[in-house]
Amino acid sequence: MGGWEIYCAICGGPFSSQVEMDPEGTEEDSYRYDVLKDCDLGWLDNLCALGFNLEAGGVDKSFITGNGYYWDYGGIEVSGGTDPNFPLGRDADQIPMVAYHDFAEIGEPHVFPFHPICYHDILLRCLKQDKPGKKIRGDVLFNVLEGLNGGRYVRLQLSYGEPEPRAEQVWCQQKGHEVLVVNPVIIPQIDADLDFIKKSLNQNANSSQIPPREDIFDKLPHELRHEIFKLLPAGSILALKSASWAMHITTLSRDFWRDRLRSEVPWVWEIHDINVFQSQESEDRASKLLLDIQKKSAYTSESDDYILGFANRRRIWGVCEQIRARYVEGLACISDLDS
Ligand SMILES: [Zn+2]
Repeated sequence: MGGWEIYCAICGGPFSSQVEMDPEGTEEDSYRYDVLKDCDLGWLDNLCALGFNLEAGGVDKSFITGNGYYWDYGGIEVSGGTDPNFPLGRDADQIPMVAYHDFAEIGEPHVFPFHPICYHDILLRCLKQDKPGKKIRGDVLFNVLEGLNGGRYVRLQLSYGEPEPRAEQVWCQQKGHEVLVVNPVIIPQIDADLDFIKKSLNQNANSSQIPPREDIFDKLPHELRHEIFKLLPAGSILALKSASWAMHITTLSRDFWRDRLRSEVPWVWEIHDINVFQSQESEDRASKLLLDIQKKSAYTSESDDYILGFANRRRIWGVCEQIRARYVEGLACISDLDS
C-alpha cells in the first residue's frame, strides 16, 4: 500500500493525473466528467524541484532539477537537468531525492517540488515582473520556501486560495473543485481570443485607418484626456479609445499602460505583449477580452461560468505573490549585507 501524497509547493495540486471522473456528475467526492473531458491533466504528472547544494561553487548554491515524478513516502525521482549546481556524481536519469523533509532521517537534504509549469511559467514570471531579464537568486528563494516549510511537510504553509486544495494523505477530489486540476498555463479558450486579436492586428496593419470623425473629446486638451485615462481601468480605457477617435489618437506612454496591466491583470501575461492600440477595432476587441477575463477568471462555487484554466492561474498567481513578497524581503537583506 502507498504511503502518502505530497503536493506542489506552488499550486498545492497533486503529482498525478489519475483522478476519478464521474460520468453522471452526481458523486460529491468525484470530479465531473463533463467538466474535465476536454481539459489537459497531463501537466500534473510532471515534477521538478529546487534544492540547495552546499558543495556547489559560487554564491548561489541552489539548483533546479530536470524533470521527474513523485514516487511515494515523500520521495521523488528526477533527472539531473542542466543546472551546474546539481550535486556532482548524480548524473543518472532517475535520481532519488526527498521532498520537504527527510522522513527516513538518513541525512538526505530535502528539495521543494513543483509542477514545471508552476515554477517556470508562473512563479518565475511573478518574481521577475519588475525586471523580466533579471536572474533569480535561487538561494534566496530556497530560504523563503524553507521558512514556509513545516507542519506535515506535504506542501508549504501558505494560503492556496479558493477553492482550497486540501492537504490530506491522498488527494481529495470534490465535485465543483475541478478547477484545481486544469492546466493553468495552456488555456485554449484564451488562445483563441488572442489569436483573433493578433490576426485582426495583421489585417489592420495592411489596411487604411478608420477616417477621423468629430466627437466631444475633440474639445478636451491632451492633459485632460490623460487625466481621464488615469481614472479608468484598462478595459474601460480601451473601450473609450475604441469609441472616440480623439481618445484613440491620444497616445498613452508605454510605462503607464504596462503598469496598469501589471496592477490589474498581472496574470494575463499574453496581453501584455500585444500592441492593442493599432486600431479602434483592436481596442474594441481587446477591451471586451479584458472585461471578459476579469469575469471569466473568477472561481465561484455557484456555477461553472468561468474559464477553469484561467481561474486556476489567477489562484496560483495569488500564491506566487505571497512567495514574492518574502523573496523581495530576502533580496533586500542580502543587498544590506553586501553594502
Ligand atoms: Zn503546481
